[in-house]
Amino acid sequence: DRARQAIETHARLVPDFPEPGVAFKDLTPVLAAADGLEAITAALADACAGADLIAGIDARGFLLGGAIAHRLGIGVVAVRKGGKLPPPVIGVDYALEYGSARLEIPASGIDFHGRRVAVVDDVLATGGTLAATLDLLEQVGAEVTDVAVVMELEGFPGREVVGAAGRGRVRVHN
Ligand code: IMP
Repeated sequence: DRARQAIETHARLVPDFPEPGVAFKDLTPVLAAADGLEAITAALADACAGADLIAGIDARGFLLGGAIAHRLGIGVVAVRKGGKLPPPVIGVDYALEYGSARLEIPASGIDFHGRRVAVVDDVLATGGTLAATLDLLEQVGAEVTDVAVVMELEGFPGREVVGAAGRGRVRVHN
């Protein structure tokens, strides 16, 4: 399809980033291409059609999330790395392969309770980032319906990890 073709044309593989031995799939040039952004956001918007709020994960998820929400005529919220949002925030710490990370969302100004939220990001690898995001959104009473990513990396249990975090109620699309 058009999205897959844009990925094949524009994505690049960066060896040894962010750690030696890791091959980083960089979708930045795909989003910078007019046909790439259009094709990808069209496909992901279909996957998010049941939602009334999009949550985009730091940082390429912000770009995708805004475009998808605009397409669907709904709002978007940025799930940010720790320390970027003004207080009050609600956050979750989660383990990375080396060390840990933190994600935060606003704890006031947005009523998450009962909202049907779709979460979007560029790449699903171990699933740790998305699982942490689902925990966070569950804490504020949101109902996550769908997770939509551009690409799942092979050789990782990401889909299973996200499925478990969503207690089987979340569909994963790519
Ligand atoms: P996970 O938590 O291991 O599933 O990693 C997913 C998060 O890290 C997402 O926010 C991605 O943007 C980022 N990420 C991990 N691996 C890659 C990659 O190869 N390319 C682009 N982003 C990646």
